[in-house]
Amino acid sequence: MQPATASMSALEQNRSRRHGTLQRPGDAAGSVGRPRSFWGLRAAGLLLTACSLLGACGEDDGLHGSGAMGPIGDPPPQSAADPDCPPSTVCDDTPAAYAIRDPNTGSYGNYDLANRPLDGQEVRYIVIHTTDLSWDLTIKVFQDPQNAAAAHYLVRSSDGHIAKFISPRHVAWHAGNWYYNMHSIGIEHEAYAFEGHKWFSDALYAESAKLVRHLARRYGVPLDRAHILGHDEVPGISPARQKSMHWDPGPYWDWDRYMQLLRAPLPSDADPGQSGTPIVLRPGYAANLQKGSYCFGTSGMDCRDVADAPANFVYLRTAADPMAPLVENQYLKGWPGDRMNNWGTKLGTGPIYVLAEQKGDWSAIYFGGQKAWFQNPGRSLTRKASAMVITPRTGLTTAPLYGVAYPQDTAFMPPTKPVAMEKIYDVPAGQRYALAARTTGDYYWAKEWVASYDPSKQIVVKDGTEYYQVHFNHRVAWARAADFELISTP
Ligand SMILES: [Zn+2]
Repeated sequence: MQPATASMSALEQNRSRRHGTLQRPGDAAGSVGRPRSFWGLRAAGLLLTACSLLGACGEDDGLHGSGAMGPIGDPPPQSAADPDCPPSTVCDDTPAAYAIRDPNTGSYGNYDLANRPLDGQEVRYIVIHTTDLSWDLTIKVFQDPQNAAAAHYLVRSSDGHIAKFISPRHVAWHAGNWYYNMHSIGIEHEAYAFEGHKWFSDALYAESAKLVRHLARRYGVPLDRAHILGHDEVPGISPARQKSMHWDPGPYWDWDRYMQLLRAPLPSDADPGQSGTPIVLRPGYAANLQKGSYCFGTSGMDCRDVADAPANFVYLRTAADPMAPLVENQYLKGWPGDRMNNWGTKLGTGPIYVLAEQKGDWSAIYFGGQKAWFQNPGRSLTRKASAMVITPRTGLTTAPLYGVAYPQDTAFMPPTKPVAMEKIYDVPAGQRYALAARTTGDYYWAKEWVASYDPSKQIVVKDGTEYYQVHFNHRVAWARAADFELISTP
C-alpha cells in the first residue's frame, strides 16, 4: 500500500514529487490490490521515453565529456581523468537526465545541481541500493527526467562495471528522504533484492567496495555502519512516508564481507553480556540461515515461503522465548513478520545498539522503543562496540525522533521558507540508543531547474540546532540534543 496522497500536505507532495523514491514490485508487503506501480509499468516497457527525444538529458559538470557504454572488457574511457571514478575500475560516464519534464509547472528531474562540499553540504553518507531492474532498464530510467529519480552510480552484477550518472557534487534523488539526499552519494547495484544471492557476485562486491573506498577518501565519509547505510536503513521524513520507504539492498547483502572489503571490519571483541553495553550483530553470514517469505510479481497475490538462506539479520521477539511473537513496527501493522521486506522485525548486521538485558542464551536490545529479544547462544552472534549512548532527559516520559535534522524556522530567510519536521517515533524514558553521529541543522533549498549551479537560487540553510543520529530500529533516526542526555558506556 502506498501512503494516501490525498492526505499529504502540499509540502509533502512537493517533496514526494521532487525527491521521490522509486516504487518497486514487492516493496510493500500486504500489497494485495495495490495499483500497478510505476516500476511495474517500467518493467513492462509501457512508460519508456527516449532521453534523446527530450533533449538536455545530460548535465555537463565540467569534469569530463559524455561517454557511451561499452561492452564488457572495453578499456575505461573516462576513469583515468575522472577523479570521481576509482582509477583501478572500469567506470563509464553515463549522464543521468537533468531536464524540465513539465514546462507548465516547471517540474524537472532527476537531481539538483549543487557544489558539495564547497557549498556547505557535507557528503557524509553512502547509501547502498539494488535496482530491482536490469542494467539496461536502470540506465533508461535514470536518463528520463519523467522518473524524478537517479543515483550517482550503478555497479553491474556480472563484472563490477561501474556507470557514473551524476557527479557526487550534485544532490541525486535516490534516498526517498531529502535530508539523506543532501548528505549522501547513492550507489545502485544491478540486483533484485529478493534473490540477492544470485546477483551479489564477487566482482560486484569488490568493485563496489573500491568505489566506496575511493569516494570515502575523497569526500571524507566515515567507513562505518553509521555512514555506510543500506537504503533500508534510511527513514521516511514523516509518519506518512515510513511505510513506503524501500527495503533494498535487503536481507542477502553481506554487510560483514562488505565492511571487510572496505577495510573497515565490524568489531571483533567479545560481547560481555553486561546491560548497557553497546553491541553489534555479527552472526557470520554464511552460517546464518534465516527463514522468510515474499510476495512475488506485481499482483501481490503470489506470496510464499522462500528457502532458508544465508542472511544478514536475525528476527527479534517480544520475549526470550522462541514461540514469542516477533516485534512489530507501528507503521507496518498487519504485515507478516517473516516477509523479507518487513524490516520492522529484523536486526541487521553492523549498526550499534545497546544491550538491555541478558537472560541465558537470549539477548535483548533497545529497538524501536521496545525491548527486543533474539537467541544468542554464548553471545556468539554479537560483538562489543564502542559508543556513547543517548536517553531521554530526566523528567521526560518520552522524547521525539525525526527522519531529518533540519534548522529551526527562524533560520529560513527569504527566498527560503521554513520547512517543518514531523515526529516519527517516541523514545520511552529509560531506553538507550547508541550515538552514531552528531550534527547541526541544515537544509538545501533547491526548488527549480537551473542551467548552471546558482547559489542565489540553491541555498544551504543552517543553524546551530544540535542533533544526534541513532539506529532506532532497523532504520536510523534523529534526536534533538535538547531532548536527550549523553551517557558514557562501559
Ligand atoms: Zn534503494
